[in-house]
Formats: sequence, C-alpha cells, structure tokens
Amino acid sequence: MKIWVMCDLEGVAGLSSFEREVQSDSPYYELAKRLATQELNALVEGALAGGATEIVAIDGHGCGGLDMENLHPELKLGMRWAIEFPWGLDDSWDAGMLFAHHAMEGTPNAILRHSWSHTAYGGVWLNDEPLGEIGTGIRLAGHFGFPVVFITGDRAAVREAQALVPEMEGAVVKEKLPTGIGVSLSPTKSREVIRAGAERAMGLVSAIPPLETNTPCELKLKYSDAAATARAVEYGWQRVDEDTVVCQGADIVEVMRKFYGG
Ligand SMILES: [Zn+2]
Repeated sequence: MKIWVMCDLEGVAGLSSFEREVQSDSPYYELAKRLATQELNALVEGALAGGATEIVAIDGHGCGGLDMENLHPELKLGMRWAIEFPWGLDDSWDAGMLFAHHAMEGTPNAILRHSWSHTAYGGVWLNDEPLGEIGTGIRLAGHFGFPVVFITGDRAAVREAQALVPEMEGAVVKEKLPTGIGVSLSPTKSREVIRAGAERAMGLVSAIPPLETNTPCELKLKYSDAAATARAVEYGWQRVDEDTVVCQGADIVEVMRKFYGG
C-alpha cells in the first residue's frame, strides 16, 4: 500500500512557540526538526507494521521541518524546495496521513493555531466553511480518490480532522487545557502513541471513503494587511471588502492552485 504523508512542524510534541521554535531563525529550530523527524520515523514504523509498502513524506512546513540526515531508511522524502502544487497527488495513492498538523486560525484551546501564516491571514474559507491545512489535505486526497486515515498533532488538530472524518485515527501529542497551560507528552511517549496510531490507521484504509468536496468551489481569504488585498486583486482575485478576496474554480484543485500560485 502506497501512503502519502503531508508533514508540518507545529504539531510536534513539546513545540509551542512560532518565534522560538518553528521559524528558520528560531533558536530551537534545529531541535524542533530533530524532534519532528523522530516522530515521523515512528509513524513510518507503524505504517510499515500495518502493511505500507511505500511511504512518501512531503515536507510542507514553510521553511522546512525535517532533519534529512536522520530520516527512517524506508521513507522517501518529498523535498521542501522541490515541491509544486499539487505535491505529487494523483490517483495512485491508497491513503494519506497528516503529520504534525495544527488547528486553523481562531480555534479555541489550540497550540500554534493558524491558517497557513499566523501573520498573513485572518481566516480562509472554502465554500463558506472555514478551511485550514487539515481540511485542505483531507479534501485534496479525497479529490484524488483516497482517504486520509491518520493525523498527529495537538488535541485541537485531531478534533478538526475528526470533525470532517470521524473514523480517522488520531495521535494527540499535546493539548492546551482550559486552565491556561499547554501540556505535552514526552518525545518518547509521543513516538509510542504515533507508532501505535499509524499501525491501527493502516487497518482503516479500505474502510474510510475519500471525502468529497462540493463543486464548483469558491475560496475566500481574509488578509491581516490591506496591501496584500490589493496584490491579490492584481493577480485576478475579486475584492469582497478592504481585507477580503475570493476566487472561483471548477473544483478544489483549481482554487487551491490559485492560492498556492502553482
Ligand atoms: Zn508549519
């Protein structure tokens, strides 16, 4: 079975700061990538134990989120600086997994929540429903005819995925408690939870149907900065108000291609 893994960085156990951990100039960026890579390797071990025969991980974090030197030997890497939309997606995959993802902008009790950029966007909507990277991954996989069966991240990220696909397996490695503290599993424990979850998820590959998205599609972006609205209008997006633009397309691939500029 051939597994497509979209990787992010914000959903790794122990990480809780944009400035200090997940940006290229963060003092703990290298540590963050090492932690991510060990978690991803645990996912690979679990997926292989569950019957995966080929696993390709796409490094989808803005500045790169993996430590190439220490990748699991059986994992193939979709390299950060050689990725173009739609990221190798076609109908040859059997299932998808979302690794180290984060909840969308505005989600309560979510660690490192954002929609694509915590500085650029105030929100993104697909067909008037809020959209983040999680929904995008699940819906793009669905467009190409395969299900996403597993997600790792904080509790809010897993909840966001399971709101779309309730049967999906999730590995919760950290959570923001309403009492005002973010609590994480240890790296060792997070890897155990991820390995076990990935193996269980492989048993769901033929049980979960691909998520279909209504067509045609409309994508709406709310910018944090009015100048960005003007630039989007120059690229052909339609202005809704001073900080909001929309575009239309026949399906999700067409509107996301406009969004990613692919
Ligand atoms: Zn990221």
